Amino acid sequence: MSSFDVEYWREVLRGVSIPFNHPRRDSLLIREKVVEGFLEGYVVPQGLIAHGRGEAFDYLIGETTIEPAIEAMKAAVALLLISKHPVISVNGNVAALVAEHVVELAREVNALLEVNLFYRSKSRIEKIRDIFKRYGVEILGTDEAYECTIPELFSERRRVDCRGIYVADTVLVAVEDGDRTEALKKMGKNVIAIDLNPLSRTALTADITIVDNIVRAFPKMVEIARELKNKTRSELETIVNKFDNRSNIAKVLEHICNRLRDIASSLMNKP
Ligand code: ATP
Ligand code: MG
Repeated sequence: MSSFDVEYWREVLRGVSIPFNHPRRDSLLIREKVVEGFLEGYVVPQGLIAHGRGEAFDYLIGETTIEPAIEAMKAAVALLLISKHPVISVNGNVAALVAEHVVELAREVNALLEVNLFYRSKSRIEKIRDIFKRYGVEILGTDEAYECTIPELFSERRRVDCRGIYVADTVLVAVEDGDRTEALKKMGKNVIAIDLNPLSRTALTADITIVDNIVRAFPKMVEIARELKNKTRSELETIVNKFDNRSNIAKVLEHICNRLRDIASSLMNKP
């Protein structure tokens, strides 16, 4: 095999099935979806690495949605509901794992969807566009005629849709790189981030950071949106104003520390 051969890898992977009683079955099935996105050509190799980094933090958190994440989700949904022009930014990993729930959330909070890629290519954009089309949504960021640029950003992600992120007041990013999050903040956007690493630049730069796996966070946010939609604007504003991102991230770190300390002491106490 001289160059990367998709059919070869499909054949290799076909030979392996994950047993139903495998203790890490759920995690492995999620991993398979990202790999499938890679073989389809819309997840980049760097997306696989990013996913692995996310898995590592998820292991530390306990692979569950923790209370500080719920608090952050409530604030995020409230902010999306009171925003004039909210946009959810999507990429290859998001498309591979949670396209359906992203579409549902966008409908509940009246947000637009826009594709934004670090490694931008026409073919990746079209593949991601087609995935969202299956759920009945036409995403922004696919038409060069509507291209605006984010100042100070030097990767391909500086290109944004003039009808979407460029004019948005609030942007939700997930599995996103720190440079872009910082650039969106410099443009004066409210930024909501979903990121399993509480220490990433994205997590520390965003206004609201949801430290959770996107496969759990998006469906949960749909539920929360259905509850919060009945609140008044001033009730929603109160939820947003009461939220303090730095102390929320601190609670996540405390959760990880306590959990690791408990595990360590149970290992020490074992006969
Ligand atoms: P930063 O650039 O913000 O400092 P980084 O360079 O470590 O972070 P990137 O590859 O730029 O990381 O961004 C990907 C981020 O997405 C990582 O922080 C990773 O933990 C997170 N991530 C990966 N998979 C998931 C997932 N399924 N759910 C939520 N977050 C995820
Ligand atoms: Mg990065």
